[in-house]
Amino acid sequence: MVLDNDFKQAQERVDELITLLDRYSHEYYVLDRPSIEDSEYDKLYHELLHLEETYPALIQQDSPTQRVGGTLLPGFEKVEHDLPMLSLDNAFDFEGLQAFDKRVQQLVSGEIEYECELKIDGLAVSLKYEEGKLTQAVTRGDGRVGENVTGNVKTIKAVPLKLRRPVSIEARGEIYMPKASFIKLNTDREEQGEAVFANPRNAAAGTLRNLDPKVTASRNLNLFLYSMVQYGELEIETQSEALETLEKLGLRTNPDRAIFQSIEGVWSYIEEYQEKRSQLPYEIDGIVIKVNRFDEQEQAGYTVKAPRWAIAYKFPAEETKTRINEIEWSVGRTGVVTPTAIMDAVQLAGTTVKRASLHNVDLIKERDIRLDDLVFVRKAGDIIPEVVRVDFDSRTENSVPCEIPVNCPACESELVHLEDEVALRCVNPKCPAQAKERLIHFVSRNAMNIDGLGEKIVIQLFERHLVEDVSNLYDLDLEQLMTLDKIAEKSADNLLKAIEGSKRNSMERLLFGLGIKHVGAKAARLLSEKYETIEALKQATQEDIQVIEGIGEIIAESVVAFFELEAAIDLLDKLKAHGVNMTYTGPKKVETADTTSVFYDKTIVITGKLEHYKRNELKETLTRLGANVTGSISKKTDILIAGADAGSKLTKAQELEVPVWDEEALINEIGQ
Ligand code: NAD
Repeated sequence: MVLDNDFKQAQERVDELITLLDRYSHEYYVLDRPSIEDSEYDKLYHELLHLEETYPALIQQDSPTQRVGGTLLPGFEKVEHDLPMLSLDNAFDFEGLQAFDKRVQQLVSGEIEYECELKIDGLAVSLKYEEGKLTQAVTRGDGRVGENVTGNVKTIKAVPLKLRRPVSIEARGEIYMPKASFIKLNTDREEQGEAVFANPRNAAAGTLRNLDPKVTASRNLNLFLYSMVQYGELEIETQSEALETLEKLGLRTNPDRAIFQSIEGVWSYIEEYQEKRSQLPYEIDGIVIKVNRFDEQEQAGYTVKAPRWAIAYKFPAEETKTRINEIEWSVGRTGVVTPTAIMDAVQLAGTTVKRASLHNVDLIKERDIRLDDLVFVRKAGDIIPEVVRVDFDSRTENSVPCEIPVNCPACESELVHLEDEVALRCVNPKCPAQAKERLIHFVSRNAMNIDGLGEKIVIQLFERHLVEDVSNLYDLDLEQLMTLDKIAEKSADNLLKAIEGSKRNSMERLLFGLGIKHVGAKAARLLSEKYETIEALKQATQEDIQVIEGIGEIIAESVVAFFELEAAIDLLDKLKAHGVNMTYTGPKKVETADTTSVFYDKTIVITGKLEHYKRNELKETLTRLGANVTGSISKKTDILIAGADAGSKLTKAQELEVPVWDEEALINEIGQ
């Protein structure tokens, strides 16, 4: 057979594209570490699609256009979906939407209504409730078979273990990591010398599929449900009714949605959210447009990969080009040496950008970033500037790879690259840069919160040898403070008062301020609530510590190691001698309750004999989570918690259709 040239060329390109896309999919779905932008992936994918449409003989069974999602990870039970979890076709401009509208018009008889929703950038999960109880949560996987992540999903506070009515349903939605949590997670990881996540989606996927539910629980995932695929005896005719029903059952849906009668209306919604996108607390990568009526959806039907009644409009990537002028290396408080690109200032998504963290040496090598390179920058999590890739075409011939420091930029001691870390580290305990960063951390808002003691003053104090470790702060006097630049007597006096006042802080602030590896503000609070004094915490064993809900093995190990350090004990003794409080004086009842808790703002009644809880302690815990625990059942009661031999309160709750939780459900939600 003689193949014509075009066909042969197409065949080669198809093979090439399949190999490339497979590699990118593996990095994206399995490793949670994409190496190219989504828009770049979409471009290659559409090139393949176009070639396959032109030459149908080239369609291979294992082409990414014939498959949904990614490969399954080992470690989780595999579960076959009752109904496949498909992908969505994409559109990238108004013409793409018009083409979609035209296709739908041809397939559907009657007036069409489009329902628009935000396309949350996370990962899809399917939740099954049987007679109102959550029985299973499964990832999309390859669309036909997913991973059973029920244990991890149960740690997400917005997911109710029990619905408000005892119905059997299957609902699907997107699990995501809020931008603020993503930024915090990456900052912590960078500080700890661990690899950072490329974006909130990958962070969410990595977190949900972590084999340790404690890790999942600590990272603040959330979820929006967006569809109901099985709804038992409930009568639902449209997508908008399905979302309303989910809400009534107590499930979380996204309120930003709208219905339009025309594709022009849809476009106005897209434009609106393209503007609002950066202000949302979570990342969206587009808008999903769905035919609203279920009977019309049926008429439109499905392809192997996606419904014909829906499309995802993808926002263009917001990125811009600039030049790298310098790579700055700075030392953090734990000794991690971080590179930062200093660039020509450019406007990006509403702000001027001239610095971007390059996170670690591996990333510089992987992306082959060099001085004087023209690079593309964008904002990860819509906030943090990031160097995405180099514009290799514009690289000059004499360009050389970036020089990686071998000595600490602050103390000159030799840097190390620990085996399990991506970071370069300075391990000199006397490194002045680390000491300075530790001081800045100690006085910061979430730690000792010393008003008026900003970074600039701390640096002066340090550089003038007035303060070397945090205990020296309490040796300072008015005269010394007045020697600092731009500090008059009044502000020096206020500063002294603030330093003195910080001695009365509750233990969790001190504990966080000490900068123990892996101990963030939340862990410090949990440890303080449990042990109440530094002395008691010092005596605790790793086994004791790691059973605390929200504290894992890594934190426990690090706390124990800290108290074994002579230098740490010396420091604590000095602080104690200065009168710094070492006791937890924080409220037992947290005033700022966690608004994502399922118990937040709920009126709850407890009845019957409880086997696993002391009633008073349970009441305290629920109150801490923001619930209002009352004594009698009324229409206003949201949940009745019923132990054994529950009497009239249970009957009344059932009459009023108040959801009833048993102890097992409680244990699942809050532990014992
Ligand atoms: P998709 O992201 O294009 O859209 C489908 C998904 O959207 C659904 O599965 C669901 O999880 C999600 N979604 C969010 N909000 C929704 C809502 N309101 N209603 C319905 N669904 C909603 O498709 P996909 O199959 O998940 O992923 C393919 C995309 O992944 C590609 O287009 C590409 O952008 C990206 N990708 C990137 C790389 C890379 O290397 N950068 C590799 C592979 C895939």
